Amino acid sequence: MTGPSSRAACAALDAVDRLAALRSRFLLPEGIVYLDGNSLGPLPASVPAALEAMVRDEWGSGLVRSWNLAGWWQKPCSLGAEIAPLIGADRDEVVACDSTSINLFKVLAAALEMAPDRRVVVAERNAFPTDLYMAASVAELLADRELRLVDTSAGGPSTRRSGATELDAALDGSVAVVLLSHVDYRSSAMHDMRAVTERIHRSGALAIWDLAHSVGAVPLEVTGCGVDFAVGCTYKYLSGGPGSPAFLYAARRHHGSAHQPLTGWHGHAEPFLFRPEYEPAPGMRRFLVGSPPLISFASLEAALAIWRDVDLDAVLDKSHALSGLLIDLVGTRCPELRLGSPRDPTRRGSHVALHHEHAYDVVQALAKRGVVGDFREPDVVRLALAPLYLSFVELWDAVEILVAVLDDAPWASAPPSPRAPVT
Ligand SMILES: *Cc1c(COP(=O)(O)O)cnc(C)c1O
Repeated sequence: MTGPSSRAACAALDAVDRLAALRSRFLLPEGIVYLDGNSLGPLPASVPAALEAMVRDEWGSGLVRSWNLAGWWQKPCSLGAEIAPLIGADRDEVVACDSTSINLFKVLAAALEMAPDRRVVVAERNAFPTDLYMAASVAELLADRELRLVDTSAGGPSTRRSGATELDAALDGSVAVVLLSHVDYRSSAMHDMRAVTERIHRSGALAIWDLAHSVGAVPLEVTGCGVDFAVGCTYKYLSGGPGSPAFLYAARRHHGSAHQPLTGWHGHAEPFLFRPEYEPAPGMRRFLVGSPPLISFASLEAALAIWRDVDLDAVLDKSHALSGLLIDLVGTRCPELRLGSPRDPTRRGSHVALHHEHAYDVVQALAKRGVVGDFREPDVVRLALAPLYLSFVELWDAVEILVAVLDDAPWASAPPSPRAPVT
């Protein structure tokens, strides 16, 4: 084991942690170790006042004038510009809008239309289901298209996702577009975005990346990697708030030629001329559809302000240190948990998957003792290590609680817990 081997050693790491001061930017409840920042990021301390101001001043006093006076009309682009550096894009290549699912629909349809003589969409069999549902619908709606599923990882701790040989085999001349998750929502296995995008392009296809479990967890370089389109969530590592709008990236070279099919008035070149014919806006605005959730934008805006001061390389270093510590401690103290994430830190995101026969009950028992993680089908305890607010001591304490939960094994003496609607 190379990491700290005592609680005191963890405290020493916390004392020199360059990100430690960011903890005070979040309101985390006492007595909770929050290991679920990849499902719903915690509340930034600045958000309650930002929401109050938005509602009282911009809505209450400004009324409809706020579309102009408070910059409401520009928000999808101004917030997109704030997200851009977090994914390595230029400020005018990103918009904040809709949900990740809807943005996937838009970019998949746009990409398919750009390759009319190719009919196949390639996606990962283990992808987050919404990606597959959307890809299947787009393929069906644009008649004569087909979804081809590939395995890009065996799912084990030694997984090297860039080795993706099934993907290479699938990349024949019929493939129009490949949709991939950069960091797998379950295993945390991470693709080599640059190498894989290059291989996709060499085959003549376009590359769409889902960054839901990457943004705010690892530094990204979508423009530098030549990515065509990307989408992602803001309510996970970015702490935008429950249901906060997603983002959509399109490479500048596609701004004039990409046509997405949800042609709502907010994507029109001149919406306030109220013309009966649709004409797409020249830049990223063409990816907008209808009126955005401005109250939700207010919490997202306050959350994004935190990220302005954050060094993403420091985030990555701390992520590696935290996830490495968790993997080491679990490896020595919890033999009944099987690691489901790559051991190589450069091959994983900022969460760790641990397999256990009673994973759902393990997660429930942890939550009862103040350690919040989540369960993913079929048998995964998924724990996120979010570097902006998690300390090494907290992680050490969480493992102590995990060890106690596994020792007590409450599931052995109780009937199986009924599943809540959200796991
Ligand atoms: C969380 C997540 C989504 C969520 O999509 P929404 O439409 O915003 O609910 C999509 N893709 C992946 C990979 C995710 O992890």
